[in-house]
Amino acid sequence: MAGHISPAALSTEEKDAPLAPFDNSYARLPERFFARTDASPVSAPKLIRLNDALARELGLDAARLAGPEGVAMLAGNAFPPNADPIAMAYAGHQFGNFVPQLGDGRALLIGEVIDRRRRRRDIQLKGSGPTRFSRNGDGRAALGPVLREYVVSEAMAALGIPTTRTLAAVLTGDPVYRETRLPGAVLTRVAASHIRIGTFQYFAVRGDLEAVRLLADHAIERHYPAARGADHPYLAFLEAVIAAQAALVARWMLVGFIHGVMNTDNMAISGETIDYGPCAFMDQYDPAAVFSSIDRQGRYAYANQPGIAVWNLARLAETLVPLLDADQDKGVELAEAALRTFQRHYEATFHSGLRRKLGLLTEEADDLKLISDLFELMAKQQADFTLTFRALGDDLDAVPGEGTARAQFAWPPLFDEWARRWRERLSREAGRDEERRQVMRSNNPKYIPRNHRIEALIQAAVERADFRPFEELLTVLARPFDEQPEMAHYAEPPKEHERVLQTFCGT
Ligand code: AMP
Ligand code: MG
Repeated sequence: MAGHISPAALSTEEKDAPLAPFDNSYARLPERFFARTDASPVSAPKLIRLNDALARELGLDAARLAGPEGVAMLAGNAFPPNADPIAMAYAGHQFGNFVPQLGDGRALLIGEVIDRRRRRRDIQLKGSGPTRFSRNGDGRAALGPVLREYVVSEAMAALGIPTTRTLAAVLTGDPVYRETRLPGAVLTRVAASHIRIGTFQYFAVRGDLEAVRLLADHAIERHYPAARGADHPYLAFLEAVIAAQAALVARWMLVGFIHGVMNTDNMAISGETIDYGPCAFMDQYDPAAVFSSIDRQGRYAYANQPGIAVWNLARLAETLVPLLDADQDKGVELAEAALRTFQRHYEATFHSGLRRKLGLLTEEADDLKLISDLFELMAKQQADFTLTFRALGDDLDAVPGEGTARAQFAWPPLFDEWARRWRERLSREAGRDEERRQVMRSNNPKYIPRNHRIEALIQAAVERADFRPFEELLTVLARPFDEQPEMAHYAEPPKEHERVLQTFCGT
């Protein structure tokens, strides 16, 4: 067979090349930062899906990862010699209550790689078995939540929103027991890092200032290298984390995303969305929307997210106060001033994003009023968040009183009244129609991971071992801004009997 190289003909160097060129900077931190953890093998690892494009981005050999040696690693059965699997220590405020020790109870950081763009990325298994931090948990994950995280994290990436990614999902062949017996699975997560606000809290509550400093230095090196050269590196670090979180939450708000469990252990210092549990994209616009079954008070409702982000950042700031100034009062003052910048960063991203969603290319004093009046109408008349904005872009050439957006409203004449004001506003930036069309098209997705579609794909996979709905939804969501006419049914909101009222973390 011309051109085919049999494995025997490979040079020893190629044969011995590691599966992944791991370089584990976090594992070089002091022992108290983590617990080294062995593999806890599963019975029958079977690859559900490997994210080939992400593997390439990471500089990894996708074919080898999908082979027996790769799947053994992705299932947590056998690690290559250069991996250094650790469970990270962290604490966190869960629904406002402080828990001094959480940690990776069902996750293992197997190593870091430097990707094609020279960025350091963590490769972590989720559902890979018990660790020192498991408490009473089994260290495992059920198939449903693994598929949900795969779909939603990849959809977020395609929407251009900072997020951890999913490299693979593997069936373990072993059942996990939740309310019922479910298939077990392992998700491979890729993150800029897994350092959380709760990681800082873990050391701060122990009075381990040296560790807080080491962690801050590590995080600066990795995520905010510009802070290193600032007059006041730790203050610059805090300010950078605040700016990143503010921008992130604003991006969530612009697509109707509800994280669901914004505990301080689920907020990454890098500014990536992390820990997809009972998260959801809303269908009908409702500022009070809550889907998570465990969020009984609505603490993490859609409209509360910016305020909660500030609350969480205040917990981070507290851990850094001793590094900000030798005088505690002065340190607190600096931290408070930094926290006050949140609103400015948040509004910069949120307001400019809203303008793009409405196709406003210039700024006018009354724009925010125009926008908030639309949201009020949407809320009162149960308009679908995603479809309303998408339809506005489609309606640019429609005559007043026609077009597709009005169909989203229970009483269209009130929307027509609003649309008249919107068109009048657009007329003041005439001549930029093509640009506006482009801007609206690329800021108002047609396809989002709707809850009823996720529930349906989980059901197909869990009950019938049918992964086609999972594969199909992933394919559609990879191009959220494209029309994809043959997939238009994926843009539709749920029918009454398909509506999902609650999501579960299923841990
Ligand atoms: P989460 O709600 O997924 O953010 O997890 C909160 C904490 O519970 C973390 O410390 C997790 O590692 C831990 N945890 C969640 N599920 C399990 C599980 N099945 N086994 C062990 N620990 C778990
Ligand atoms: Mg978590």
